[in-house]
Amino acid sequence: MLIDYHTHHERCGHAVGSLEDYVKRGIEIGLSHIGLSDHMPLLHVKPEEYYPEMAMPMAELPAYVEECFRLKEKYKGQIEVRVGLEADYIEGWEQEIQTILQAYPWDYVIGSVHFLGTWDISDFRQTHNWEGKDIFAVYEQYYEAVVKAAGTGFYDIAGHLDVIKRFAYRPDRSRQQEVEELENKALRAVQQAGMVMELNASGLSKACEEMFPSRRMLEEACRLGIPLTLGSDAHDPRKLSEHLDLARALLYEVGFRELAVFEGRVRQMIPLEIEG
Ligand SMILES: [Zn+2]
Ligand SMILES: [Zn+2]
Repeated sequence: MLIDYHTHHERCGHAVGSLEDYVKRGIEIGLSHIGLSDHMPLLHVKPEEYYPEMAMPMAELPAYVEECFRLKEKYKGQIEVRVGLEADYIEGWEQEIQTILQAYPWDYVIGSVHFLGTWDISDFRQTHNWEGKDIFAVYEQYYEAVVKAAGTGFYDIAGHLDVIKRFAYRPDRSRQQEVEELENKALRAVQQAGMVMELNASGLSKACEEMFPSRRMLEEACRLGIPLTLGSDAHDPRKLSEHLDLARALLYEVGFRELAVFEGRVRQMIPLEIEG
């Protein structure tokens, strides 16, 4: 059973392909589950005053959800389509986020921290914000937001938990232990919230050159009994499930034997299968 629970599509403005293109590609490559999980519309910054092509306009959200459910029905028997959202955690906007999450019958919701204030730390156009900053302090701020995100209880899956490393800004080696403490605190928050964590393979193609999260964090998650799921974070149907063979092998090596899947926000575990 192959699954991919993290995908995007053209509505967000920085991905290509329709939802149906991803579903068809999923069938073609033999996925048993495909999770559609586009970005939540921007809430705390005005889209017209912000960087363009960040997320779907708010007005598109109902059409997105409707189309996802239509595809779920249409491809029943060929692939299990799951309807999700990659919902940002934005400190101070909890009420507004909750309103969006409660408005639709999601199969699952990924909780991701992209924003520290108005800085999207995952946007390549905004890396100048690192300049002149204490890298460790930014990491601290990021992981504090992750802990708060988990504490809201809004989310099923913790998205790319150490994405702060994406552009390879890393604190000095001398602070490694402190960084690990921040990471472990975030993992404990995920565990206490009863959340699943994703292994997001897209990091392999980024400047950090490793998946989100790191092997060390996966080992810690395994010790803590946090269930894992898998996502490619594809922004192009041709990249659907890219590197997920490596991701499955890594999870197996670390000690995981099951993966989490969702429907109607109820979790189920399926066997983790690896090649060979
Ligand atoms: Zn995206
Ligand atoms: Zn993300």
